[in-house]
Amino acid sequence: MLIIYSIIIVSAFSFFGVVVSSSYKSIRIKNEENRLFQTANVVADTYRTNKEDRIFIRAMTKSYGRQANARILILDSQKKTVVDSHNSYIGKTVDNEEIRSSLASRPNSGIYDLQGKEVLQLSVPIMAHSANETKIEGAVLISASLEAISQDLKDLKNTLLKFSVSALLIALIFTVMAANSIAKPLSSLTNAVEKVSSGYLGYKVEDRESGEIGKLIKSFNEMSGKLKQIENNRKSFINSISHELKTPITAIRALIESLSLGNSSLEVYKEYLEDINDEAKRMGQLVDYLLSSIKLEDISLDLKEEDLAEIIEDAVKLIKPYAEKNGVDVEVNGITSVRTICDRNKVKEALLNLLDNSVKYKDPYKKQNNIMISLVKNKNEACLVVEDNGMGIREEYLSNIFNRGFRVLDAEIAANSRAQGYGIGLAIVKNITEKHNWQIAAESNYGSDSKFIITIPL
Ligand code: ADP
Repeated sequence: MLIIYSIIIVSAFSFFGVVVSSSYKSIRIKNEENRLFQTANVVADTYRTNKEDRIFIRAMTKSYGRQANARILILDSQKKTVVDSHNSYIGKTVDNEEIRSSLASRPNSGIYDLQGKEVLQLSVPIMAHSANETKIEGAVLISASLEAISQDLKDLKNTLLKFSVSALLIALIFTVMAANSIAKPLSSLTNAVEKVSSGYLGYKVEDRESGEIGKLIKSFNEMSGKLKQIENNRKSFINSISHELKTPITAIRALIESLSLGNSSLEVYKEYLEDINDEAKRMGQLVDYLLSSIKLEDISLDLKEEDLAEIIEDAVKLIKPYAEKNGVDVEVNGITSVRTICDRNKVKEALLNLLDNSVKYKDPYKKQNNIMISLVKNKNEACLVVEDNGMGIREEYLSNIFNRGFRVLDAEIAANSRAQGYGIGLAIVKNITEKHNWQIAAESNYGSDSKFIITIPL
C-alpha cells in the first residue's frame, strides 16, 4: 500500500516537474527571442539611416551587442559581413537559414547546439524604402547564448526536486499516520468480530474513533449488544417455558401415579382425568405460544395487489360469531375500497389479533360492548382503525404493549379467565404491519376505550 502511494506521489510530482520546467523554458526563450528581434529591428533601422557613418554604426552595434548580451552582425545583400560587434567576421560571408530567410524579407530564428551549448540565432532584413519600391539592402544577424536560461532551468529543476522530495516525505508520513489510524481500529474490529463469532456475545470495541470507522464501531457495538440481548431473551424464554411445562407434567405424573394404585372410585377417576385434561390443555397453549414465537421471527410475505375492504370483510365474518357469543357487537363503518400490495393472510391475521383482543378485553361492567372498524382513504395514505369501548389501557403501559411477552396483569384481567394469553398478539400485529412498511399506533383512555390505528402509505 505504501509503495503504491509512493509511486502515485512520485509520478504526480515528476509529471508536474516536467510540465513546469518545459513551459518555463519555452516562455523564457520566447521572451528572449522577442527582446532580440526588437534589438535587431532597432539596429537595422539605425543602420539604414546612418550607414554612411561607419564609426557610429560600429559603436552602435557594439553597444547594442553588449546591452543584449549577444553578438550582432550586419551583412550586405551578398551575405558579406559589414559590421561585427566582435570585429572578427568583417569581410566574411555568412550563410545560414536565418540570413537566407531574412534576405527574402522573412525575419527568422532558430536554436542551435554549439559544442553542447544552446544558441539562439535570429535575423531581420534591412529594408530601404524609396518612392516606389522597397529594397532589401542586407540583414542583421543576432546570436545569443541560452546558457543563462539553461542555468535558471537547472536551478528551477533543483528547487522542484527538493520540493518534491520534501513533499514526498511529508505525504508518506501522513500516509503512514492515516494508514495506522485506519488499520488499528480495523484490527480491533476484526478481533472483536472473532470474539463475537466464537460466542463472546456483547463484546464491545472501545469507541474513540470519529467518521466512518467510528460509525462502523458504533454499529458493531450495537449489533453485539443486540445479539447478547437476543441470547439473554432466548435463555430466559427457554427457562420460563421449561418451568411452565414442568409444572403440568409433574401434576399429570402425580395424578396418574395415584390413579394407577387402582383403589379410587369412579368419581375420583373422572375428577383426576379432568385435571389431567386441563393440564394437557395448558401444555397445548404453551406449545401454541412457542409456535407463535417462532412464527414471529421468520415471517415472510406473499405480496399481491389486494383490496383492504375485502380483507376486513373476511376478518369480520370470522370473528363475528365469537364476538357475539361474548356479547360484543362488531360494526363496520365507512369502508371504502383501498387497493394496495400486501399479504392477504398476514393482514387478516393481524386484524383478527386486534379484534380478538377487543373481545378479550371488553369491559364486563358496560351494558353495551362494541367494536368499530373503519378504513379511510386520504390523498397519500389510508387509515385502518380498530376501536373498542373495552376496559382500555393505562397510559404507562401503552408504550410496552407491542413488546413480545408483555401483558397487563391487572386484577380485572387476571380475574377474567377468557383474557388468557402470552403477550404475543400485538407483537405479531406490529411485526406484520412493519414488514409491510405500514405503521401502527395505539391510543387509549383507561376504563373507556382503545383505538389501534394502522397507517398504510399509498
Ligand atoms: P395478550 O393478549 O396475550 O396479553 P397482546 O400482545 O395481544 O397479548 O396484548 C398485550 C396487552 O395489551 C394485553 O395483555 C392487554 O393488557 C393489552 N391490550 C391489548 N389489546 C387491548 C384492548 N383492545 N383493550 C385493552 N387492552 C388491550
